[in-house]
Amino acid sequence: MIYTCYEMVRDCRAGAAEGWTYFIAHYIPVIRKALAHYVPERADDPALLQRILQSARKPESFIFHASEQPEERWFVSQLRQLTIAELGAPAAELPIDLEILTAALEPLTMTERQAAWFETMRYTPAQAGPMLRVSPETVEAVRARAAELLRGKVDAWRRTLLADNGPALGHEAAAVTTEDCMPAKAFLDVVDGRTTWRGRQDMDRHLRTCWHCTDHFCRILESVHLLRDTPELSDAECEPFRKLFGIAPPPKSGWKRLIGRA
Ligand SMILES: [Zn+2]
Repeated sequence: MIYTCYEMVRDCRAGAAEGWTYFIAHYIPVIRKALAHYVPERADDPALLQRILQSARKPESFIFHASEQPEERWFVSQLRQLTIAELGAPAAELPIDLEILTAALEPLTMTERQAAWFETMRYTPAQAGPMLRVSPETVEAVRARAAELLRGKVDAWRRTLLADNGPALGHEAAAVTTEDCMPAKAFLDVVDGRTTWRGRQDMDRHLRTCWHCTDHFCRILESVHLLRDTPELSDAECEPFRKLFGIAPPPKSGWKRLIGRA
């Protein structure tokens, strides 16, 4: 039996134990991987993880309000947002906003903007390169150019300006949507090679001015990275979380019984 993210979301919404059992085994490791990246010093804090899980279980959580088909990469990109929300978005010492970024990075292409945006998400060129399917050297070169362009638009500058402003810029980007903003499916189509030349042109044009979609696209690419080589929890590792969620352990012999009956 293939149980997918789609069925998991359906079961979670219905309050069925299967949904949350699957969530615990498959997506707690993803949350941990995101925490290890964004807040390595707090990645093993059980209270932080518990707060994130409680927030996922709340009726207002995205799990209960998804307007899109719950494709796994979309799900992980939303789970990442929920995780980040628990971390807060403190203002940087030298704050910049999206308006400055739009003005400064105007000459850059869609992929170049993404290379720069991944810096706000604290990914190194070695990590961002494979996500964008370009070399780390290309990412490095684009970032150096973006830094110089930005330098021309601000009074006070330092090389880490984008990374320093990452949480605040991410928060701002998530909040500003336009009527032309694209669904996750549009970005998944590009990743999976299903988009047309025309579709790609339209996306290019829109992302030139829209940081909301640039961020969304980068988060979809990040979700592939967060899922890759991330093993699910063992039954023993799941147990404390099932207790936390008030879920009974799955019957161990259920699968064998089914086979025997057939
Ligand atoms: Zn947009």
